[in-house]
Amino acid sequence: MPIIGVINQKGGVGKTTTAVNLAAALAERRRVLLVDLDPQANASSGVGVVSPTTTIYEVLAGETSARHAVIRTDCENLDLLAASDDLAGAAVELDSSRDNLTLLSRSLIGVRPTYDFVVVDAPPSMGALTLNALGAADQLIVPLQTEYYALEGIASMMETVERVRGSLNRDLRILGILLTMFDVRTRLSQEVEENVRRHFGELVFRTVIPRTVRLAEAPSHGQSIFAYAPTSQGALAYQALAEEVLERVSQG
Ligand code: ADP
Ligand code: MG
Repeated sequence: MPIIGVINQKGGVGKTTTAVNLAAALAERRRVLLVDLDPQANASSGVGVVSPTTTIYEVLAGETSARHAVIRTDCENLDLLAASDDLAGAAVELDSSRDNLTLLSRSLIGVRPTYDFVVVDAPPSMGALTLNALGAADQLIVPLQTEYYALEGIASMMETVERVRGSLNRDLRILGILLTMFDVRTRLSQEVEENVRRHFGELVFRTVIPRTVRLAEAPSHGQSIFAYAPTSQGALAYQALAEEVLERVSQG
């Protein structure tokens, strides 16, 4: 039962949209835990949880166990460890000792057997929270917004991943790079796609997530794309991504 981290230190590239909708797509066939590690709590509200009684903050602080903090969502087979703005404090308090960077990994041990997949939504920075996500994950999905600056910052991120592999988490692998917000009407999107595929080859998922209004609207209804607009292009794309993820995970 792999832990999949959705990571990119840039904000606004589609991490949360991907974490929520991939988790929801996988939950159609598997038991899934979505972990919201971003103090902005967009993944939590994105699955309809706005005032959680217990959060991942209390788990990381050692005040409760992950098992007790898990919240059911309206989506069958999808549970949530919710975020709250307390997490911003945790990000500052946690220095980068090994103990602090393996908090999430250790916290999840008790709940791992309950789920087929754990999907972690990381915040837009390379601070202690993202390092915890990197420390806990078996596999990473790196969303890249299909725009001119898509590759900016990716080299330093790959270096961080290498460093984490050498220290915190030897087993960390990149499952794939995901192109998001692809605009079918622009030549630029196609050029960026060609460029990213030339750079990263097979590492790039075949599935590309289109820019669609439905994907942007769904979170304001507290729903995944499958609940909000199940026949939309966005739903089809995240469905295809989930299939590709299952394929890649089973290939080890
Ligand atoms: P991140 O978590 O990396 O900061 P988000 O997933 O929150 O990125 O996406 C940033 C913004 O772009 C949000 O308002 C989101 O609704 C919107 N968005 C994300 N993916 C798409 C898409 N494929 N089509 C249209 N809007 C999108
Ligand atoms: Mg986000």
